[in-house]
Amino acid sequence: MFVCIDQTNVVDTEKTYTLKDLETAEFSGTPLAVIGHPIEHSVSPAMHNAALAQLSSNDPRFKDWAYYRFDIAPEEFAQALPLFHQHHFLGLNLTIPHKVQAMDLIQGVSPDAKTAGAVNTLVRGAVGYDGFNTDGYGLSRALELDLGVSLKGATVMLLGSGGAARGAAVQCVLAGCAQLYVGNRTPSRLQELMEVLAGMHGGERAQTFALSQLPQALPERGVVVNATSLGLRAGDAAPMDVSQLPPGWKVYDMIYNPMTTLLKDSQAHGLSIANGLSMLVHQGARALEIWSEAPVDAAAMMTAARDALNLPPHYD
Ligand code: NAP
Repeated sequence: MFVCIDQTNVVDTEKTYTLKDLETAEFSGTPLAVIGHPIEHSVSPAMHNAALAQLSSNDPRFKDWAYYRFDIAPEEFAQALPLFHQHHFLGLNLTIPHKVQAMDLIQGVSPDAKTAGAVNTLVRGAVGYDGFNTDGYGLSRALELDLGVSLKGATVMLLGSGGAARGAAVQCVLAGCAQLYVGNRTPSRLQELMEVLAGMHGGERAQTFALSQLPQALPERGVVVNATSLGLRAGDAAPMDVSQLPPGWKVYDMIYNPMTTLLKDSQAHGLSIANGLSMLVHQGARALEIWSEAPVDAAAMMTAARDALNLPPHYD
């Protein structure tokens, strides 16, 4: 998508920019960006630029806003962040692998993001960036809309302990889940997350489990949330065996692949499933609301995301 920033400057928001571009290029107007590594397949630019087109059709304040994609490696991130600030990027979305590392490089941080130890949304301040975490909100909306699951009172089995899992776990406890089981491949990372949860009001409802073995005496209903990156690549195995889950359980995969092995296995066992597309849309809509201080139409972002992924309009 090409965005006309002013009479003389037309930018390609589908291009993947790099640290070198930050050192040499001009980004006029009000730039926003997603930063990750790898990042080429991110649909965030399509989603956000569609929402910006809609915002600017009603409010001229947004006519020079544009959302870019940047491939920034972990070792480049500390150098890149001040350059984004110098170029007046108003907002940044962070994805793999920057959400945790960024905590040490930002100025302020929202209370939930501080607890989670992970940020996915940065807002430009006078001397640096302030951090927020909209992943937990996005997950919560997606579970309600796609699976009819409210986190309040739910039994949740969370797979993973990375940046996304941290946001999800904190959201589960804050929302008042009945029980939270957390499993992760690397025990030390799992323990770090459990220490975070132990410090929260309600954190005693969280306990660990081994991904290779289901927790004992599961209730009839509950939801599995995959927050591992296993499933991102074609041919990836499922992070757990779902065949022993009670039939009333539902399975949500944060990956918007659209069908990971975990979801295929779950569907084969008659479980209700949903992929991460609506979480992506709702975390993105909330980020844009933080930057724009205006209501954002998540439906327009969903349509753009489906288009970018070549999904039919009513895919679910
Ligand atoms: P991250 O910080 O890199 O964490 C990755 C997690 O995956 C860790 O728990 C890691 O376990 C686990 N993992 C990686 N490879 C594994 C394997 N082969 N077997 C078992 N576990 C494995 O990444 P993240 O930012 O949390 O993102 C995690 C996933 O969520 C990604 O797929 C991302 O695309 C997705 N996500 C989706 C949305 C959305 O809006 N839909 C938002 C955020 C994230 P170890 O600790 O053992 O390494």
